[in-house]
Amino acid sequence: MTCIFCKIIKGELPTTKVYEDDEMIVFKDIAPKAPVHVLVVPKIHFASLNEAKEEKEKLLGKLLLKTRDIAKTLGISKSGYKVIINNGAGSGQVVFHLHLHLIGGWKEGAKGYIV
Ligand code: AMP
Repeated sequence: MTCIFCKIIKGELPTTKVYEDDEMIVFKDIAPKAPVHVLVVPKIHFASLNEAKEEKEKLLGKLLLKTRDIAKTLGISKSGYKVIINNGAGSGQVVFHLHLHLIGGWKEGAKGYIV
């Protein structure tokens, strides 16, 4: 069975896209855990960080820096945000295609949630 995020990347499933280039896609989480909750996803399929090889160092760095830029674009840079990667079922990972959760947008004074 094809990975659900690979289907989104191929355009076979609808999504609300926030950013896309040839290496990555960013879209809104279907079940947001915060006022702002997007997923930053490499187009190449890794089940989790455990499967990411050293040669993907540049791509992995890009994902992190783009996440920072998108936080700014979405207006949560100054108010604060979390970047979370679940790895393995024991951490709560349910979609086995590496992705970064970018979450934020809480009201002033809130401490944020854990995904
Ligand atoms: P994780 O628990 O880290 O594997 O997170 C997977 C995330 O993917 C969850 O927050 C889900 O709400 C989200 N998700 C699952 N299916 C979709 C979808 N079709 N479009 C957007 N987000 C999705």
